[in-house]
Amino acid sequence: MVRKLKGIAAAPGVAIAPIVQFHGTLDHIPTYTVRPERFEHEKQRLSAAISAVTESLLALQKELSAAIEHHDARIFDAQLAIVHDPTFRQDVEIEIQGGKNLEAAFQRVIARYEEVFNGMENPAMRERAADLRDIGRQLVAACMTRERRKYTADGRDYVFAADEFLPSDAGMLDRSHLRGIVTAHGGKYSHGAILSRSLGIPSVVGIENVMLHAATGTEVIVDGDAGVVILDPGEEELEHYVRLQREQRAVESRLEEIRLQPSVTLDGTQVDLLANAESVHDLAELATDEVAGIGLFRTEFAFMERRQFPTEDEQVAMYSQAMERAGGKPVTFRTLDVGGDKPLGYFRMPEERNPVLGWRGIRLCLDWPDILYTQMRAILRASAIGHARILLPMVTERAEVVRCREVLEQLMADLRANGVPHDDEIELGVMVEVPVTVQVLPDVLPLVDFVSVGTNDLVQYMLAVDRDNQRVAKMYDPFHPGILRTLEQISGAAAKAGKPVSVCGEIAGDHWFTPILVGLGILELSMAPVFLRRVKLMLRSFSEVECRELARRAAAMQSTAAVRQLVEEEIQVRWGRFLASGGGDAES
Ligand code: PEP
Ligand code: MG
Repeated sequence: MVRKLKGIAAAPGVAIAPIVQFHGTLDHIPTYTVRPERFEHEKQRLSAAISAVTESLLALQKELSAAIEHHDARIFDAQLAIVHDPTFRQDVEIEIQGGKNLEAAFQRVIARYEEVFNGMENPAMRERAADLRDIGRQLVAACMTRERRKYTADGRDYVFAADEFLPSDAGMLDRSHLRGIVTAHGGKYSHGAILSRSLGIPSVVGIENVMLHAATGTEVIVDGDAGVVILDPGEEELEHYVRLQREQRAVESRLEEIRLQPSVTLDGTQVDLLANAESVHDLAELATDEVAGIGLFRTEFAFMERRQFPTEDEQVAMYSQAMERAGGKPVTFRTLDVGGDKPLGYFRMPEERNPVLGWRGIRLCLDWPDILYTQMRAILRASAIGHARILLPMVTERAEVVRCREVLEQLMADLRANGVPHDDEIELGVMVEVPVTVQVLPDVLPLVDFVSVGTNDLVQYMLAVDRDNQRVAKMYDPFHPGILRTLEQISGAAAKAGKPVSVCGEIAGDHWFTPILVGLGILELSMAPVFLRRVKLMLRSFSEVECRELARRAAAMQSTAAVRQLVEEEIQVRWGRFLASGGGDAES
């Protein structure tokens, strides 16, 4: 009998409750032929369905805005935009003119759109298909005047199980008793996952057979940190997880207390915690007093959301806005990192058999220097109002940096000559995310002001494991001793050259990694803001000396499992001490 199901950890925390299965698909809807004299009637029904869905989305957005982060509530803006997209309406009307009833027209158009999204390389874009399904489901329900009934849990806790968790589900569930979420589909980037993180509901997604194995009523443990669901847990497992749950709750309630405390180790070493951002909106909710700056601004997302390249002026406005929101703290703008899993709809890229090893990042920008010139000039112009830094993605060799330096110098000379204000000493840095770059760092470092390690890519290239391939996800483990030794090498080379090094990949926000990173000499960590406090807590629970010792032992291990075990033991000890101390800083 299957007892343990492995999926993707989508929202952290532990939930223990029985399963309630939910089914909601677009499969069973009425399909009939509409005669021309009824076309107008179907179009009126279309308007009515759009109004009804708009109303319910706005109501849901309002209802949730008290419970979730402001920028996560924007998920519903994205859905509203689809509902009101004139092309979408037009496509549905074309189906109606072709004799389809409204429900069938919705189904066909949504299926077509979904196919386009599913075919995209970028997993984040692929997961937008779920939004379309969600919209389709709501529109069909609205035009069939069949209210989706709100689920009342009769006062009992439950774990939601379904093929997927869609944003509108949040509105029809009794959230006061919703303890966990498990789904067959979905990924870390899906809107359902973002919502569950924002609502603080432990979630594991991508468990193919979950609906088969976890029938309604099955008692489960959802481990949202490990991405595991345990069915019918035994006494020992329950005891372990109940303890873990208690500890996590205590930690959560106390994280608030360390909000404004300095990010220092027990022996006083300062570690700068910075935020990663993908848009100006991300910065709207950022408590800038909690961070030392923006360590990674992924500019490509603003490019990807558009229908054409933003002009230089548009970029200046965007970067200036980001810097204003950062309140004078440094903002590290990474130049366009498209290609690979991040296509740009309006820029023709060749079909590549292996896009992750293909034309991406700085390679693409150096082949199309106009893109680079415009972007760098815009960052330079924006740098007049604050502290901007430029970061180059996917650098592989010194020559690329030489070329970018030349471009930068040339642009600055031009701006100077024309009296355009800018920061003449703007810092230039490189991402270390291609393994070979580690070997040539001593050649590259003299040309740059800082380096930032992109462990998401570095790990996938070093382990030869696609970071977005569910089948090999288990093998993608940054605790591999070889990765730790590489990080040590990078930080050693940077220290020797007297250049600061940060990590901006996901491990920077993984508090289990914090002591090791500090021990490896990495004293700048840039992460999604949601992880800041946990990381700070870990940081304040170790001395730098202890971190060094831990990192030394971990890097010398001979297996990933051994590293994980070591780290778990150490962190459990600190966690326990932190709790025992009543939430104050742990003592060594
Ligand atoms: C990385 O590769 O670690 C990184 C930060 O870049 P991205 O995740 O945007 O590829
Ligand atoms: Mg990367």
